[in-house]
Amino acid sequence: MKILVASNNAKKLAELERILREADVAGVELIPLNQAPAYEEPVEDGRTFADNALIKARAGARETGLVCIADDSGLAVEELGGMPGVLSARWSGRHGDDAANNTLLLGQMAHVPDGRRSCAFVSVCALVTPAGEEHVAEGRWEGTLLREPVGDNGFGYDPLFLPADEIAAGRSSAQLSPEEKNALSHRGKALAQLVGDIRRLAGQ
Ligand code: IMP
Repeated sequence: MKILVASNNAKKLAELERILREADVAGVELIPLNQAPAYEEPVEDGRTFADNALIKARAGARETGLVCIADDSGLAVEELGGMPGVLSARWSGRHGDDAANNTLLLGQMAHVPDGRRSCAFVSVCALVTPAGEEHVAEGRWEGTLLREPVGDNGFGYDPLFLPADEIAAGRSSAQLSPEEKNALSHRGKALAQLVGDIRRLAGQ
């Protein structure tokens, strides 16, 4: 069975490949967006991660006739009522400007005391079939917002995020190796919940 992964991020595809391999799911070929028949990607204007993941997965299934998986993710800061949330990639107004997003967020949180800096990376993955079957799974990675960027790995808000699993070691998620981050992260937790549906759809 072919599954379209509605993303051009090779790391997301590799992560799902690893999860399927570790779960012994065979006979599934993952197709990245850039190897699928081209179609106009939908506007991600949902108010929640689930809305946006479903917008992308429905478009992929409809346009290609393949089972499609899409995800939407971001950083939810408790003190900010869950924001940046779905606006994470464009929090400063410019899409994908990680440095500006981080500076703005640190400024907004500058006077918030240590005990109120809880946040979580959230990933919602949607699986949609051409027949209209839909599954949505959420993964969360809990942590604390640091006061200044630490570490050079990863992307986005990684240098500001101290995972709850790393409190003792004091390493930000930008100080973890890719393998360490994958083993803990929100996206892996969400994708892992879809394994049962993928297995069933693949006839196993
Ligand atoms: P996307 O869903 O991959 O487009 O990610 C949306 C935005 O959320 C990214 O641009 C980052 O700002 C933020 N984000 C999501 N996941 C992570 C992560 O694992 N580390 C750091 N930032 C993340």
